[in-house]
Amino acid sequence: MLGSFFIAYMILKGKRAVPGIAVGSIYIYNKEFNIPAESFILTGQEKSHLEQYNLVKKQALDELEEIRLSVEKIDIRKAEIFTAQKEIVEDIIINEEIPAKILNDKWSGDWAIYQVYETVLCVLRNTQDPLISERAADFDDVRGLLLRLWYGEKTQGLSDLKEPVIIAARELMPSDTAGLSSGKVLAIITERGGGTSHAAIIAKSYGIPAVSGLDALLSYIKQGQLAAVDAEEGTVILDPDEDVIREYNKKRELFFKEKSETQTFLHGRGCTACGVKIDIALNITSASDDELKASCYTDSVGVFRTEFIYMNRSALPAEDEQFEIYKKVLECFKERPVILRTLDIGGDKKLSCMELPREDNPFLGIRALRFCFSRPDIFKTQIRAALRASFYGNLWLMLPMVSSLDDIHKAKKIISDTQEELEKEGKPLGRFKTGIMVEIPSIALIAQIVAREVDFASIGSNDLCQYLCAADRMNSAAEPYYQSLHPAMLRLIKDTVADFTDAGKPISICGELGSDTKAVPLLIGLGLRKFSMEARSVAAVKRVIAGVTIEKAQELAKKALELKTAGEIEKFLSE
Ligand code: PEP
Ligand code: MG
Repeated sequence: MLGSFFIAYMILKGKRAVPGIAVGSIYIYNKEFNIPAESFILTGQEKSHLEQYNLVKKQALDELEEIRLSVEKIDIRKAEIFTAQKEIVEDIIINEEIPAKILNDKWSGDWAIYQVYETVLCVLRNTQDPLISERAADFDDVRGLLLRLWYGEKTQGLSDLKEPVIIAARELMPSDTAGLSSGKVLAIITERGGGTSHAAIIAKSYGIPAVSGLDALLSYIKQGQLAAVDAEEGTVILDPDEDVIREYNKKRELFFKEKSETQTFLHGRGCTACGVKIDIALNITSASDDELKASCYTDSVGVFRTEFIYMNRSALPAEDEQFEIYKKVLECFKERPVILRTLDIGGDKKLSCMELPREDNPFLGIRALRFCFSRPDIFKTQIRAALRASFYGNLWLMLPMVSSLDDIHKAKKIISDTQEELEKEGKPLGRFKTGIMVEIPSIALIAQIVAREVDFASIGSNDLCQYLCAADRMNSAAEPYYQSLHPAMLRLIKDTVADFTDAGKPISICGELGSDTKAVPLLIGLGLRKFSMEARSVAAVKRVIAGVTIEKAQELAKKALELKTAGEIEKFLSE
């Protein structure tokens, strides 16, 4: 989108994907392939086109495996992107369609690849679910790779950049960023993609500022053109004058100064200015060495989102495989608690190894614990693995999407039956606690009763807000209605925390709100003493905590509770 014009430079407005500031030359990375012309083959040519298709498929699989292995050394999760892409190359439907088009309709191989993928892409791009529509990037990436191999073109990458540059692209594909020399990338600006796109995920992991959603970006810019990027604001200034460059360089310095000052808090204890200990826990999704590195500056694991172990694979993880993963995390944290959340699948989280029943409202359907009740075999396998791992550390088992006491009783019965079964088998077990996520208002409102039935709880503010405000957390159009600081959220959190605290049961928060530095003092004022977050938020949260006293936080919470709208509360906290 175009901004103001009475000045010599042009301002483009997009969305902040990863915060940061950069000034530098633009490097246009336009890897668009030439769209093949609609073309047909003569009878007798089918075999050679089929053979060539099979050959490029094999080359693509080899190339993707090579990238996967090199990325795996840096980040196991990122490497999964390439496993998923290999699965696309081998997709059953696509691999029935392309040969059928060559054999029956006499389409040339390149036209068949282009067109069959285009059909899939149209469906993906038109879905309302941003996570699915953004996965279209993978299909597009695979199609580009197959066509480049078809034409015998070398795949270019971003690994051989000579100078530090601002990369501008329609969208960055996972394979583009595989060998990215992050030291040479000042910022990434893209036309497409959102906060959950691959470009954003990868930029975030490298700490590269990124702005996405810059409409028609490539039609405004030239190779080597000077630009100033403010990823905090989501703006890109083209041809900035000296004053703007000076201002941005100053902003950049300030950004890094702030960042390095914040980093000094990383290894300290979470402690208020008045000396009250605040527990800082870690949100994890895998047991990768990279993720577990944060164990040296966190007090515990606040939520292990175990569903990620089930994703991007062709078969469900077996009991022994899960046992090894859970054991690794428990051993790493030793006597410190590890909150292992049981499978939270459904809603926005899908499994490639099994088709979940189609539902009109998946967030209100058979998600998480409800799914586990519908598949006791899958649930029991996970509980068996977790209880066996309890021998190696301090296991706290947490149930997601609990809406009633019935859920708790039913789950606890399955857990105790499984425990008995393991004991009979002579498996060594440790002690463990059982708790719940408070993420559905119906359970929050009976927290006083629930606190007597479970050992602990963690507030899942992401879902609590979605269900309380009736605003789909994945729907950007509903964003204005998704108000994490809604007065109702504050009241619900305050009462839930009080009920658990009065019952002498630990309660924490593990949703995004718990790592929002603006909200942390307020949450302390509402009674929370344990915050769980991703590793990258730890230093900033500890810094905020160090600057607040319990008295001040309580004063802040009291005033916030007197306000009537989320907007007023937000404004008040910013001030
Ligand atoms: C939450 O809902 O706040 C939460 C932590 O769980 P998830 O984001 O995985 O649904
Ligand atoms: Mg949740």
